[in-house]
Amino acid sequence: MRLSLRPAAKLTALAALVFIMNVFIWSNYLKHDFNDVSTIVESNKHGRQQQQPVAQHVNQSEDEVTPLHKYKRSAKSFIGYMDTLKNEGEKLKKVVQVAHLEPTQLDDIYISVKTTKNFHQSRLRLIIDTWVTLARQQTYFFTDADDLEIQKLLPSGHLINTNCSSDHSRKSLCCKMAFEYDNYMASNKRWFCHVDDDTYVNIPQLVALLQKYNHSEEWYLGKPSLRHPLEIIDRNNPVQKLAFWFATGGAGICISKALALKMLPHAGGGKLMTVGEKIRLPDDCTVGYIINYILHKELTVINEFHSHLEALWQIRVPEIKNQITFSYAKYGDKNNIVRLEGFDENKDPTRFWSIHCHLFPYTKHCANMPR
Ligand code: UDP
Ligand code: MN
Repeated sequence: MRLSLRPAAKLTALAALVFIMNVFIWSNYLKHDFNDVSTIVESNKHGRQQQQPVAQHVNQSEDEVTPLHKYKRSAKSFIGYMDTLKNEGEKLKKVVQVAHLEPTQLDDIYISVKTTKNFHQSRLRLIIDTWVTLARQQTYFFTDADDLEIQKLLPSGHLINTNCSSDHSRKSLCCKMAFEYDNYMASNKRWFCHVDDDTYVNIPQLVALLQKYNHSEEWYLGKPSLRHPLEIIDRNNPVQKLAFWFATGGAGICISKALALKMLPHAGGGKLMTVGEKIRLPDDCTVGYIINYILHKELTVINEFHSHLEALWQIRVPEIKNQITFSYAKYGDKNNIVRLEGFDENKDPTRFWSIHCHLFPYTKHCANMPR
């Protein structure tokens, strides 16, 4: 009897050991598989900020996934655990596919240009002939008068008469910016980029910039002209001052979809104009006030944006191809322009043709320029 019980006990112990090892190996394998999915999301980070952890994408925290120990009690519940994990895995794989964003392309960007009837001939024509040729379908012009001649040069619906006043007052500027914002919101694009009509935009570099940031995170990209936040009197409490950063409109401003959505209660349906009136500041300051002061979102400085308030002649020629925007200005008889050999300065006082043909030498009108 003693002799026959021993092998049976040994066999039972061995079987139990094999079962425990199986449970251990499978649970580790499945845990590993599950972690792999999270790793894919991490490695597909799109933009400088980290993606949300996977569990948040599915609106389900990791705590809600039934823990392993609950299933260790029996082989039947272990199989149930495997099925649950498989289902979770499938769900997560779907989420990963959504989270794995396509890189931003030109067509994901809404470029809005603020202009006025007095500048249709002198400024609009110049940009329509140069940089806008690279983004015709993505660029919209916000003006204050109808103009059949300009309209013919653009895709239908791209010259928008806001009926705002045509002056340079803060109210008129905010009125146009409010239209720009509302039209962007209706466009369903990833990015809202505003420029003035005296800005040259290096389109491929703009796309390359926005590919570095995730539009579903909140981003305010631009270049301030001040070295310090703008300080104004708090109208709700006139003995107090309030301060905020803003990006200069003439250098360009880009706002991600996520941030534009956050701005909606303060900027949507023309409210941007009301806010501008309340703080008595022009459009670019008003945008900064809403984003930086009201919503507490930081301005990310893009050094490759250049307004006419910078010394543009200091940009080195080999660096021009890496820059994203350039403006210009005339102070008395002195021009603040990019120093670049190219077209005669009388024919090309803004240097936009020279910049354009420097960047894209084989485009229309550039063939005969001196290089
Ligand atoms: N602008 C306008 N109405 C005006 C003057 C200017 O809408 O009476 C627009 C112009 O088209 C440009 C922006 O405001 O997009 C800035 O104008 P400008 O470059 O003349 O002046 P800045 O503010 O840059 O010194
Ligand atoms: Mn300007």
